[in-house]
Amino acid sequence: MNKIERRDFIKKASIASLAGSAILAGCESKSKEKNVYINFKKNFEWKMVTAWPPRFPILGEGAQKLAEQIEQMSAGRLKITVYGGGELVPALESFDAVSLGAVEAGHSASYYWAGKAPAAQFFTGIPFGMNTLQTYSWLYSGGGLELWRELYEPFNLIPFPAGNTGAQMGGWFNKEINSIDDLQGLKIRQPGLGGKVITEAGAQAILSPGGEIYTNLERGVIDATEWIGPYHDYLMGFHKIAKYYYYPAWHEPTGVLEMFVNKDQFEKLPKDLQLIIDQACRAANLDMLAEIEKKNQEYLNKIIDEEDVEVKPFPNEVFNKLKIYSAEILDDIIANDEMSRKVYKSYSAYQKKIASWSKSADSNYGISI
Ligand code: CA
Repeated sequence: MNKIERRDFIKKASIASLAGSAILAGCESKSKEKNVYINFKKNFEWKMVTAWPPRFPILGEGAQKLAEQIEQMSAGRLKITVYGGGELVPALESFDAVSLGAVEAGHSASYYWAGKAPAAQFFTGIPFGMNTLQTYSWLYSGGGLELWRELYEPFNLIPFPAGNTGAQMGGWFNKEINSIDDLQGLKIRQPGLGGKVITEAGAQAILSPGGEIYTNLERGVIDATEWIGPYHDYLMGFHKIAKYYYYPAWHEPTGVLEMFVNKDQFEKLPKDLQLIIDQACRAANLDMLAEIEKKNQEYLNKIIDEEDVEVKPFPNEVFNKLKIYSAEILDDIIANDEMSRKVYKSYSAYQKKIASWSKSADSNYGISI
């Protein structure tokens, strides 16, 4: 490079650098503005860690679809890379990872965080609690989501309902359950509040990781297990090794999933991207539910028609006793935690209020068809 070329290069580089500074200054002044609605010049790349095994049917797939929709709706301005549990952080550390800002977002079920905040359980679904439709009504129109946000605020997180397992199933048993006494001494793989309830009934709640349930049931290490619903249960192969498949899922009448985002990162987004996250999560509630309901009916029919399994309801006596034990467990939780008391007050009042409408609109219709 001769002298003239060098001077020319320096001149061009200076102009480029000045132009660059001007663009940066422009972005900075814009990002400092409050309530920026849209900014086509700034792209965001987020990571979302999930509590699901990689490519887990419906739940993990739904998280992936949610990320893709956010990217498409934002014309690529918010790109979210999704990681299965253990790919970036262990499944049950996703809450902390997002809370501390190591990653921007997570996808999970709030009841996994009961150890950090007992009231978190109410937002996924509770034994003998509201069904899916009633729960969404409480969350979006009955003050539930505001309480959920209040609960996550100290963790620097904002939760969004984002997907659903729908109503689950009662579980697979190798012994017929004719009375509450038949649960005595049974070893049942059942986590969460449901596990506490069956312990009250004299059973032993066992925690088996997903990958070990089949072998444990086959070898008699456990006598029964609950998992999700007919589709996921079929994929697990339980119909090959258990004789009875009970309904309903008294312990999980719905299963609200969540996307949670780091509050600081969320606040850095222009308003339109914030709204896109909110709306894409609402769409995920519908999409995942539609998909799982379709798969569950297909696979329930398959189990009834093709497998040597008796599909039956829990006897009334068992159902009613479990309901009493559930109320005792919930009383215990709200007696020991102020936020649980506050959330349950709102939840149970809504459940009572909506019951007569649900009965006239849904239950009676169900009976007539
Ligand atoms: Ca379950």
